[in-house]
Amino acid sequence: MSTSVGKDSLELDNLIRQGEAAARVGDRAEAEALLRRAVDEYPYSEDAYLALAGVVEDLPEKRRILQRVQQMNPASEEARLGLERIAAKLGPAPEDVAAEVDTVTCVCGSGRQTVLRCSKCGKPICPECSVRTPVGLRCKECAAVRKNPFYNLSALDYLKAGSVGLLLSIVGAAVGSLAGGFFGFFTIIIGMAAGGIIADLMSRVIRYKRGLGMQILAGVCIILGAGVLLLLPGLRVGFNLFYVIAAIVAAVARLR
Ligand SMILES: [Zn+2]
Ligand SMILES: [Zn+2]
Repeated sequence: MSTSVGKDSLELDNLIRQGEAAARVGDRAEAEALLRRAVDEYPYSEDAYLALAGVVEDLPEKRRILQRVQQMNPASEEARLGLERIAAKLGPAPEDVAAEVDTVTCVCGSGRQTVLRCSKCGKPICPECSVRTPVGLRCKECAAVRKNPFYNLSALDYLKAGSVGLLLSIVGAAVGSLAGGFFGFFTIIIGMAAGGIIADLMSRVIRYKRGLGMQILAGVCIILGAGVLLLLPGLRVGFNLFYVIAAIVAAVARLR
C-alpha cells in the first residue's frame, strides 16, 4: 500500500485549510500565498484551484484560474457558475484556452495509459482504480480521507502559539468572569467569542496551521488562563466553568 500518496493528499488538505482559515479572518495576502503554494505544488488539483479562485479578487485572474479548473474537469459546477458570474460582469471570455491533456501511465500498477486525474491530489488514475465521488473522480486515498489531517508542528510552533494562547486566555478569562458576574448566562456567549478569537490568533502566528495538536494546546491555554486568575490575590474573580467550557468548544471547532 502506497503511503506517500496518502501523505501528499493530507498536505494538500492542510494547505487548503490553512489558506481558507486565513481568508476567514480577512488575511487575504496570506490566504493567497498559501493557496498559490498549493497550486504550485499540486498543479493538477482541482480543489486547490477552486480554493484559490475563492480568495483572488482580480476578476480576469479569477477567470483564468476557473478556466484551468474547467480544463481539468469540464463537469465542474463551481467553475461553470463562477465563470458565468464573471462573464456577466466582464463580458465573454477573450478566448478559450486549449486544454493540454497529458497521457500518462497510471500509478496503480495496471500499466494502463490514462488522461484521468484525481480531482483532489491530481495523481493519475485509471477507471479501474478511481472512485466516483460527488466531487468528481478521486484516487482511493483521497476518496478515503475524511479525518482530521495531521499537521507537522515544530516545537517552536507550539511555543509561539502557546504563548499567544496563554496571554489571551488570561485576558479572556478575566473578561468572562467579571462579565459573567453581571450578565449570568451571557458568559457562555462571551466564552464562545473569546474561544474563537484565541484560536484565530494562535493559529495566525503559525501561518494558520491547525489540527488536533492545536486543539489540545488551545484547551490547555484556556484552562491555565482561567487558573492563573485564581492565583492573583486581590483580583476577585472565580474560575468560571461556563466561560471555560464555551471557550474550549469554540476554539476546538475553529481549529479543525
Ligand atoms: Zn488523490
Ligand atoms: Zn489505475
